Amino acid sequence: MKASALACGLTLSIVLAAVPATAKTPVATGTGGAVATISEQASQSAMTILNQGGNAIDAAVAAAATLGVTDPFSCGIGGGGFMVIYLAKDKRVITIDHRETAPSSFTPHAFLENGKPVDFETAVASGAAVGVPGTVRGWHEALTRYGSMDFKRVLAPAISVADKGYKVTEIFSHLTAENERKFQLYAPTSALYLRNGKAVQPGALIRNPDMAKAYREIAAGGVKAFYEGPIARAIVDAVNKPPLAPGKTARPGRMSMADLANYEARIRQPLRSTYRGYEIYGMPLPSSGGATVAEALNILEGFDFKGMPRAQAEHTYLEASRLAFADRNAYLADPEYVDAPIAGILSKEYAAQRRTLIGKQAAHTVSAGDPYAYQNDQSVPLRPRRATHVPGRPQPESAHTTHLTVSDKDGNVVSYTFTIESWGGSGIVVPGYGFLLNNEMTDFDFSGPHPNVPEAGKRPRSSMAPTIALKDGKPAFTIGSPGGSTIITTVLQTIFNHLDLGMPMDQALNAPRLSERNGEATSIEPGFPGSKQARALEAYGHRWEAAPEEIGAANALVFNPDGTVTAVSEAKRHGIGAALVQRKGH
Ligand code: GLU
Repeated sequence: MKASALACGLTLSIVLAAVPATAKTPVATGTGGAVATISEQASQSAMTILNQGGNAIDAAVAAAATLGVTDPFSCGIGGGGFMVIYLAKDKRVITIDHRETAPSSFTPHAFLENGKPVDFETAVASGAAVGVPGTVRGWHEALTRYGSMDFKRVLAPAISVADKGYKVTEIFSHLTAENERKFQLYAPTSALYLRNGKAVQPGALIRNPDMAKAYREIAAGGVKAFYEGPIARAIVDAVNKPPLAPGKTARPGRMSMADLANYEARIRQPLRSTYRGYEIYGMPLPSSGGATVAEALNILEGFDFKGMPRAQAEHTYLEASRLAFADRNAYLADPEYVDAPIAGILSKEYAAQRRTLIGKQAAHTVSAGDPYAYQNDQSVPLRPRRATHVPGRPQPESAHTTHLTVSDKDGNVVSYTFTIESWGGSGIVVPGYGFLLNNEMTDFDFSGPHPNVPEAGKRPRSSMAPTIALKDGKPAFTIGSPGGSTIITTVLQTIFNHLDLGMPMDQALNAPRLSERNGEATSIEPGFPGSKQARALEAYGHRWEAAPEEIGAANALVFNPDGTVTAVSEAKRHGIGAALVQRKGH
């Protein structure tokens, strides 16, 4: 015991000496490249790569790989994500969908037992929740198509952090404590993240040589090392026969080596909408993020917020979000399996019809509308059918994930959200490789009929909403956040705060978040109930969820008219984010 404590202390002092003594700063303005992430080490990795001449895509992968080490409960190579990229030379936006897919053994009954949905938490902490990870394939596509460096270069900073270790923060320790029961189920997870079955205390050092080894194998062998080599075998074994601690049980999954070898990322056209002269580029299906943000913005566009009392404006924002969520919950799912009425949902005429449903008082729950009548977006719409009254079907959705954003001196921009789904994913650390496997399959609806039921090879509907906004054909800002289905409202509210309430991006990000997802009560953050703002909204009939919780951890870039760029991260939430620029400006 003594020896290991000593060794730990020694390594810690080495790490502290190696990290420059810069305080984390949530806002930075400058020229050249810029980055905002929630982790200081990740932002520094991106800077290292930019300073070595890498572009925004290289730097985004470097930052993401480092987040996989320092924020392993939110993201990593055991999961998947969505990357939106603005390519300066071509002046176009593309997206890389590397969402996890259901193994080929999946059926719509995957989460039913005796005809009843499996308990959500039991489903989460299991091999059966694990989808085929997409992250490494996504990074490979990003680097080979749009990057300038290989895995060896961009993974180097993350390997160094995994080898040397990182200091456990308050948040890390708190999240571990919240997940103790899940982590106790699995022997390799307990060994890595618990000490005598309990959460590691803040200030302790965690090294992850196994994750460094996984990264080294990918650096040496490329994408195949992950999808076909010993790492693939270790993933399949961990899913099908979870590495349980003595006396514990969990539902196994059924994943095959072929499921991994056949995994493909998708290069998709971005979802483009317009808002008050901005072009908003977001993620298309299977993420509901882009479409839901766009529908709500289209609804909001019909209001003039100038001079409107703040509470009335925020009431309108909440109701627009509610209406968009009703459609999201009813219609959206993997486009390779379901013909979702996206053109209708995005149509300005449909938004005009939805807008008429906003009254003076909060509606609480609304039915989905009938976007099919607007599928062709004709200037004279088809006569709307009677609304189908498809109920919103709120399915438990847990939250967390990470979002990062990077730009480079040539004007390329990345907005990237990636995840392992719940905090700590399925809870299963892959033996010998030190990364957590996702529980993304619990993003499916457990029972149907519903467009988002599980099916073999299908991608569960996501809420991730990495966004890039253009004005006059040039990048204006980026925004994205973690937070499960609150991702959509965080992105929407930040855009609304920034463009409609006129807040600079840092204020837009730090304002209290209100998340209305067509429920009986709006999600809010600690400190909000009883505030003047809350009371003013209560006059419009809004009700608040009983247990306020911090919502999201957003990161943004703003491209200023004078040619500088401002990186903006959280000033209060999630232990403060890290914004860095290549050359400091004013
Ligand atoms: N699984 C979630 C989604 O794809 C993201 C993870 C989270 O933040 O909850 O929407």
